[in-house]
Amino acid sequence: MKDLSLYIHIPFCKTICLYCNFLTFANKQKKIPEYVDALMREISLRAQKYDGASGYAIQTIYFGGGTPSLIDPLLIKKIVQEIKKAFLVKRGCEITIECNPESVDSERVRIWRSTGITRFSLGVQSLNKKTLWRIARPHDAKMIFRALRVFKKARVKHFGVDFIMGLPGQTLDSFKEEVETILKYTPTHASFYFLSYDTKKIDLFAKECPGEEEQIVMYEWLCGRLKKAGFSHYEVSNWALKGEECEHNRRYWEQKDYLGLGLGAHSIVGGTMWENGSDFDAYLKNPLLVTNEMRIDKDLKRMEYIMLRLRTNKGINLREYEKMGDVKELSARAEEFITSEHIRKTGNSLKATEKGFLILEMITKKLI
Ligand code: SF4
Repeated sequence: MKDLSLYIHIPFCKTICLYCNFLTFANKQKKIPEYVDALMREISLRAQKYDGASGYAIQTIYFGGGTPSLIDPLLIKKIVQEIKKAFLVKRGCEITIECNPESVDSERVRIWRSTGITRFSLGVQSLNKKTLWRIARPHDAKMIFRALRVFKKARVKHFGVDFIMGLPGQTLDSFKEEVETILKYTPTHASFYFLSYDTKKIDLFAKECPGEEEQIVMYEWLCGRLKKAGFSHYEVSNWALKGEECEHNRRYWEQKDYLGLGLGAHSIVGGTMWENGSDFDAYLKNPLLVTNEMRIDKDLKRMEYIMLRLRTNKGINLREYEKMGDVKELSARAEEFITSEHIRKTGNSLKATEKGFLILEMITKKLI
């Protein structure tokens, strides 16, 4: 059997955060049932090509968005049941749902778990009241703590927290305080992303954000603090306790096949990539519309291998790279970064160091 992951896009949010670049809507909640119907049709039609009889077995499922926790949890259950009916889902399949604090309560957690959800990823972003307000998050800090208490009370073991670094009003001291506070809730996974400067409307608050140097100090402090707390830094923006890595994302970074279902979802299967259409009403009518379909040639695969592998603690395996490109040439290009300790060479691998993670884009461009 060939392993496959499923990504399910739920494009609804309570409100739109100022920095958001995702495909999501705050004004279409009345259309959620219609959207789920279209998604169910897509699941059943796509499965005709990727089901057990076609030789595929589902390894991981990921509900992303948007805010998947916003929709009725019984709809999530219905989607999972349809997936299990249409595809061959492996026993022990990891199923993750992205949640926002304002839509986490004990009843929802109960239904999600009875559905078979195994991991929860909570979009915290910040614990600071003013910062949350400034970026127009749909929740305040009290809701975050309430959601964390719900997880604890329900004895949810596998949950992660997502944060953003470089937000307005954030300082090194306030950031340290937030990290210390969140660690007390014992998450098993943590993602910390830098605020992206090509994000929408950032000029509204860019002047209130910490400078680049301060953000670097935050990141360096964070790496040390999470290491001390037992987390392994397994990808540039992701940390996990032992055995708590997100298998679904790991598969992306290892260029494994995944099928994206839902509005605008991306897929790569069998060396072909494509995107679902991103027009909401057109999707409701025909959920099989795709765009930007192309074959991944050897060179694109090689470039993506360098880019994705350098993000992870596995790094570039030179034996694997041999099948795609010239190892001598790559090693020669990596030399200056090995000398400057941005890359570490061990045995057959080239790995970015934490110092290297900070200039990853530049390193990747040079190695490619
Ligand atoms: S909750 Fe997430 S997807 Fe929704 S608007 Fe905010 S950043 Fe975007």
